[in-house]
Amino acid sequence: MTHSIREIEQRFTSGVYPKRDLTLVRGKDATVWDDEGRAYVDCVGGQGVSTLGHANEAVARAIAEQALKLISCPEIFYNDTRAQFEALLISILPAGLERVYLCNSGAEAVEAAIKFARLSTGRPNIVATVRAFHGRTLGALSATYEPKYREPFQPLVPGFSHVPYNNIEALAAAVNDQTAAVLIEAVQGEGGVHPGTPEYLRAAREITEQHGALLIVDEVQTGFARTGRWFAVEHSGIAPDLMPMGKAIAGGVPMGGVGIRPTVKNLAPGVHGSTFGGNPLACAAGIASIHEMKRLDLPRQAAEKGAYFKERLEEVNAPVIREVRGAGLLIGVELKTKVAPYLRALQAEGVLALPAGLNVLRFLPPAVITYEQIDFVVEKTAKVLAA
Ligand SMILES: *Cc1c(COP(=O)(O)O)cnc(C)c1O
Repeated sequence: MTHSIREIEQRFTSGVYPKRDLTLVRGKDATVWDDEGRAYVDCVGGQGVSTLGHANEAVARAIAEQALKLISCPEIFYNDTRAQFEALLISILPAGLERVYLCNSGAEAVEAAIKFARLSTGRPNIVATVRAFHGRTLGALSATYEPKYREPFQPLVPGFSHVPYNNIEALAAAVNDQTAAVLIEAVQGEGGVHPGTPEYLRAAREITEQHGALLIVDEVQTGFARTGRWFAVEHSGIAPDLMPMGKAIAGGVPMGGVGIRPTVKNLAPGVHGSTFGGNPLACAAGIASIHEMKRLDLPRQAAEKGAYFKERLEEVNAPVIREVRGAGLLIGVELKTKVAPYLRALQAEGVLALPAGLNVLRFLPPAVITYEQIDFVVEKTAKVLAA
């Protein structure tokens, strides 16, 4: 069985995904199981999607019920489930974000935000940051920093520049009357788990306002309780003009969205769209997911468990560790060496984790992870890093 699954995938998939030697077939909360029945504590969490945990019953039921009612309904029509989702989503967004554009992935949400910024301001340029990750489609990729992701696909979209992150002077110097938007993450995730300081986010808000540019804060990875608040911008008290979302937005069902302030102009019928945007199946999952996150007070859980997890990791005494960083349950352990062998060793010990860049070990567990599971992960991390 094991062999045939991997052989089939190896034969038929495109080849663009680096694969781990593991076949996952089932999950519950923060545990996943492989095809031989072996359990793992899941600190990959669908790459930050599964904040609510795997196989949540309310989400599963909502998907099944909506599937039996109406899966497909493009946005040229109104829809009861979509209306309910939009209102519920906006009720948890930072104050000022009064509308939402719905799509199907994080990159697509970033694309929409870039287009909306150009459309609103009539200006061409987007200022992004060094180490940024905003997705792999051509517009989002133009904002992404990593040369390895960018170089094979030149020429990218013109008008993008990158300034050092958390550097207020560099940002101020880069923004001018040709800037449509500044595009930043509230916490750089893929780029190595670097939280933006509240001063930096507030400065980005002021600098963009001074120049008549828009502020886009990418909350695709940080949104929906991950950092201990519904959205990471809440730590600094600012509201962006455009806020791309994705990953955990719909309990694991593919979906993206952009929160929009009234400062964004010219969003007239026909300027943008997507066949699947706002489809009722994803909206039903999103409604159930937000209700469950509220019922479980998931932002508080992520804050408390994240603080505990980070403290425990800080106690790990291994010379290979350079620094432990994080916000809520988005945690990075920067190593003095490459992370890949440690990820393999953790997997052998029953822990799944992610890299962030070449030398940062990243944990993105569901916020329903138990304290016992956190202890287990820390113990195994200490073991493999000491080896
Ligand atoms: C994952 C991610 C994206 C891209 O989302 P996809 O759904 O993979 O297209 C964009 N921005 C950030 C900050 C992300 O973490």
